[in-house]
Amino acid sequence: MKRKWLLLAFLLTFTLPAAALLSPDVMKALWWQFGSDPAVSVLRGEHWGRIICGVLLTAMPFTPLACFLLERAALSRARRRRESVKPPEFATAEERRAFYREELNGLSSELALLLARREDLLEEHGYSLEDLRPSYVCPDCQDTGYIGAEKCHCFLQAEINLLYHQSHLQDVLERENFHAFSYSWYEASDREIMRHHVMDARLFIEGFEKEFRNLLLLGKVGSGKTFLSNCIAKELMDTGHSVVYLTAFQLFQLLSKAVFGGNDSREEPEIQAYPYIFDCDLLIIDDLGTELPNSFTVSQLFLCINERILRRRSTLISSNLDIGALEDLYSDRILSRIISSYTILQFPETDIRIQKKLRSTT
Ligand SMILES: [Zn+2]
Repeated sequence: MKRKWLLLAFLLTFTLPAAALLSPDVMKALWWQFGSDPAVSVLRGEHWGRIICGVLLTAMPFTPLACFLLERAALSRARRRRESVKPPEFATAEERRAFYREELNGLSSELALLLARREDLLEEHGYSLEDLRPSYVCPDCQDTGYIGAEKCHCFLQAEINLLYHQSHLQDVLERENFHAFSYSWYEASDREIMRHHVMDARLFIEGFEKEFRNLLLLGKVGSGKTFLSNCIAKELMDTGHSVVYLTAFQLFQLLSKAVFGGNDSREEPEIQAYPYIFDCDLLIIDDLGTELPNSFTVSQLFLCINERILRRRSTLISSNLDIGALEDLYSDRILSRIISSYTILQFPETDIRIQKKLRSTT
């Protein structure tokens, strides 16, 4: 029994007649000319009115019970009807449609009764319908991991997290992020350059959703390229973007395993991550140029860079080499693709690793 109905029954059976009984003069003044209708006699507090009030007041405590019995009766009637009806022989398709339409209506009203009963039972025991709804970690896929036939973003992130866990990058991001970034490692003249690069990195992060951009970080070993790319990775991961970090060596190893690997390769999580090289929101290729390129790696690198540009997925490449050396190692085709669609950040000469060593020993 819904509370609002109980409240209404209470108001009708108690408040109004009680008011009429307690202040008949006021009620009479209000309802003076209404004849001898029973309702009016109630309002006027007349003899019949008192009797009706008495009956109503006596009946009131039984209202919920009556409602309950009526509801149960309606439910069992509907159930009996459903069980007893057998589909007859239909002469025409229209007859069949009409029969099943009526059946459907019957079932709908039974369902409505059952739903109301469920709500009442929940309410009686101090619960609401909300409590029946499962609370999902990911409401988008309702924790199934799939939206239709597509893997959900939470699934992708869980897989990437697994990769991170295995590559220990999660620990690295705890240490290497914008909070830990310091200009003090750089010479005074280099700080301005680094301020520009950090600002560019922040703009890259802020515009990540709206603007398709790629970054190429160039500079000597220890100039802070990996640190800055880790800062970017952390910020983007924290805002729910999928990030895959691979050294160039790992990338080529992964690509060759995926292309030449046997059946057993399916079991390796790295191989399972193969599609994310093309699909993840940001791919970081660290230390490009440290591996020994051959015609296979060159073609795979072009495939990777080109595919991500076509899919408008951002890529961040860092390298210890300069443009000329990269051009020598890879083809003009790759370099012209990179130069035309990447923002190049040239890092200063300072070697932070040596600076850190020096300062810790002095
Ligand atoms: Zn999901």
